[in-house]
Amino acid sequence: MSVIKNVIDKVKHVDPDQKEFHQAVTEVMETLEPTEKRHPEFVKAGIYERIVEPERTIMFRVPWADDKGQVHVNRGFRVQFNNAIGPFKGGIRLHPSVNLSIIKFLGFEQTFKNSLTTLPMGGAKGGSDFDPKGKSDGEIMRFCQAFMRELFRHIGPETDVPAGDIGVGGREIGYMFGYYKKIRNEHTGVLTGKGLEYGGSLIRPEATGYGTVYFATEMLATRGLDFKNKLVAVSGSGNVAQYAIEKVNQMGGKVISVCDSNATIIDECGIDNDKCCYLMELKNVNHGRVSEYSDKYKSVCFTGKNVWDVIREQGIKVDIALPCATQNEIDGENAAALVKNGCYCVAEGANMPSTPEAIKVYQDANILYGPGKAANAGGVATSGLEMSQNSLKLSWSREEVDARLLGIMKSIHKSCLDAAEAYGKKGDYVMGANIAGFLKVAKTMLAYGVV
Ligand code: NAP
Repeated sequence: MSVIKNVIDKVKHVDPDQKEFHQAVTEVMETLEPTEKRHPEFVKAGIYERIVEPERTIMFRVPWADDKGQVHVNRGFRVQFNNAIGPFKGGIRLHPSVNLSIIKFLGFEQTFKNSLTTLPMGGAKGGSDFDPKGKSDGEIMRFCQAFMRELFRHIGPETDVPAGDIGVGGREIGYMFGYYKKIRNEHTGVLTGKGLEYGGSLIRPEATGYGTVYFATEMLATRGLDFKNKLVAVSGSGNVAQYAIEKVNQMGGKVISVCDSNATIIDECGIDNDKCCYLMELKNVNHGRVSEYSDKYKSVCFTGKNVWDVIREQGIKVDIALPCATQNEIDGENAAALVKNGCYCVAEGANMPSTPEAIKVYQDANILYGPGKAANAGGVATSGLEMSQNSLKLSWSREEVDARLLGIMKSIHKSCLDAAEAYGKKGDYVMGANIAGFLKVAKTMLAYGVV
């Protein structure tokens, strides 16, 4: 049996309940099999065994009081997965579904993604099972402060630099950064996604969505295609979805869908710039629900369904799919319906939004498929640029950061294609992203000896 198969079996055996983590490890490690033969030195040094084990896992109590003074307790997590090539780096997710398995899968994926960006960042992820929905500003602030009251002792600008993710945007980063500054008495680049007034980078809010569209553009160009006049399905309506829509509009495409965890909106006329601005105000300022969109604009609202269920059930045709909500949102059945209706490109703004069955459908149909760790790496890449600006105590212009982001996405795209070809699977972005991300981390771990 290959070393990699043993590693996958062991991961499943030691933590039998961590199904999302098993899924991510299996998906990545299986594609790394060709590296095992070519790099016996990795086998000898136990690199495959070590790379699936987090460097450190922190779990902690987060007690906070609501507006009525009632005390609640949530569980906090920070999984510092791998810091071979730079300080730990990865977002914080606030969502009731958060558990150790989800944070481990995200931290594991982040290690490879960060390596792909060409910037010196290790992989980590954190979060809590706190549900921000329906909470007042004061409650969000008290939760973020309680979370940072423990997290602060594990992070630092040269140690671990968290950022946003689901449920954590500019407001939450502000509360966390403000509290860190207060108790540490230092103003450093310990978080990214900060406000522009206190060390944030221009283009960071836009970066994941824009980067996903830049990556899709590169993939489309390999087949002589682009976004012009194409029908595009987007899921989610948060940070990644909003800026993916904005960039698709700039590229001349037409986005026909958005969703949140309660409903899907189908707008056949297209979510143009004005509608996108309305959506941003609705979600970011009023913290409203996506169903309110259909009160304002002519569209159809499907309650209790995600975008991909609606597309399958209604037989809707799209050319390009940009899943930007959450993990495992597209299953095999939905993927088959997308492909049957003519979709030829999937670029993942979210992390692991396609199940293994869905990925098999894309690959069997030979459509363009950009996995999240490559397609959505623009967010963390721009976080890396924010770290550089903080270190230099400088701010780059919007144009400069956007140009760097575009350059990084092109370079990630090329690294994926080069690695896939070098390992005998030309055009396979999954294998290419995994191998390219892995090699840099593995070679570095080898250089350090057994530590
Ligand atoms: P966000 O601003 O919190 O938005 C998440 C969106 O997805 C919300 O509209 C949310 O709806 C929706 N959603 C969550 N769970 C859902 C479900 N089960 N069914 C349907 N809709 C659901 O988060 P985000 O930053 O855009 O992150 C979205 C995805 O991108 C995540 O997978 C994240 O890990 C990934 N990502 C984010 C970044 C980044 O820079 N932010 C970078 C790389 C990858 P509700 O409003 O109802 O919760």
